[in-house]
Amino acid sequence: MDFSLSQDQTEFKEAVVRFAQKKLVDDLSAREKRGEFFLDGWRECADFGLLGLPVPEEYGGLGMDALTCLLSLEGLSYGCRDNGLVFAINSHLWTCVKPILSFGSVAQKERFLPALVRGEMIGGHAMTEPEAGSDAFGMRCQARKEGDRYILNGTKIFITNAPIADLLLVFAVTDPDRSFGGISAFIVEKGFPGFSVGRPLELMGLKTCPIGEVILQDCEVPEENRLGKEGAGTAIFNAEMEWERGCLFAAHLGAMERELEACVSYAGERHQFGRPIGSNQAVSHRIADMAVRIELSRMILYKVAWMKDQGMRAPKDSAIAKLFVSESYVHNSLDALQLHGAYGYSTEYEPERHVRDSLAGRIYSGTSEIQRNIIASFYNL
Ligand SMILES: Cc1cc2nc3c(=O)[nH]c(=O)nc-3n(C[C@H](O)[C@H](O)[C@H](O)COP(=O)(O)OP(=O)(O)OC[C@H]3O[C@@H](n4cnc5c(N)ncnc54)[C@H](O)[C@@H]3O)c2cc1C
Repeated sequence: MDFSLSQDQTEFKEAVVRFAQKKLVDDLSAREKRGEFFLDGWRECADFGLLGLPVPEEYGGLGMDALTCLLSLEGLSYGCRDNGLVFAINSHLWTCVKPILSFGSVAQKERFLPALVRGEMIGGHAMTEPEAGSDAFGMRCQARKEGDRYILNGTKIFITNAPIADLLLVFAVTDPDRSFGGISAFIVEKGFPGFSVGRPLELMGLKTCPIGEVILQDCEVPEENRLGKEGAGTAIFNAEMEWERGCLFAAHLGAMERELEACVSYAGERHQFGRPIGSNQAVSHRIADMAVRIELSRMILYKVAWMKDQGMRAPKDSAIAKLFVSESYVHNSLDALQLHGAYGYSTEYEPERHVRDSLAGRIYSGTSEIQRNIIASFYNL
């Protein structure tokens, strides 16, 4: 494995950081209280090219390899304090843009990718249902074929970007007798008859990312909007998850780097008992532990990106990465809060937001327990 970065990769990551620190700055605290999405920031990211990182130039994207995508998202999250915006971008990229790129027909790619890359269309995916979370393939949503269209019925919940999405990749059962092989994926557009979105759900963190419920009531989806073959839904979902578990969690890496820098500064500036708190080993060791988690997170994420760039499948490594990086972000955020004392607990400062935002990472893209199940399955357990 060779993780040495080319000059182009290093320079592009630095450019993303500069862009984010300059253009993605506003009164985040006020907007977070209003639970408001940063639409201007979304547009800035589109103009910079971030919404088309893995998309070939013929569809308007930057055509980046996996490692450069990952570095860009690490840089974006390091430079941008709005974790909700970064999460919305990641969902758009890995659960909608990338599956259409990998599994779509030429007509689907031509129709959707340029608008998704320009940010004029916002995407996401809808798998989870009220009664089917970790057991995603126990879903009830049905797609019945009628002539040249499918009729979808069901409810999806906790869908990232749903309240603002123009299209969602919806997974539904087309053949109840075929278990995993009976699930298909559909590109469902906002205006389709029978498609509606409930009010945004109020969650503990990621408050600037709209997340909601999707209702499909005799929703009519033309056959040409089916992604891949009938029954290909499971394969599409699994491929999607490998990319998401690698690239989305690069955003956690960037957030942890930003968090560590703030802790190092605070440990030097904050004086108690006549000396900086960082001169206490209990404090400096906390920082050392944070740095160790960051370094190991970087290694496993870069390994997954390297595997994807070699054209390898990475189901075990992406599960290890997802588990380790999401848990590391929670541990580092709790450490950062403790290190800042009452200021860390105050909603006027960053640490408490990191705690709230990081906890979601243990749940989405498959919970920590499900990642352990996936990893254990490679040992026939
Ligand atoms: C911020 C956020 C964004 C999300 N975005 C999306 C999205 O865009 N699209 C989408 O489809 N979904 C999305 N989800 C939903 C997410 O994928 C599910 O929440 C997740 O899969 C877990 O399902 P659940 O919440 O129903 O928990 P459950 O499956 O009910 O699990 C409850 C608890 O039981 C444990 N558990 C369950 N089964 C097992 C088992 N076999 N072994 C061990 N432990 C087990 C779980 O680990 C968990 O601790 C999002 C969730 C969050 C929090």
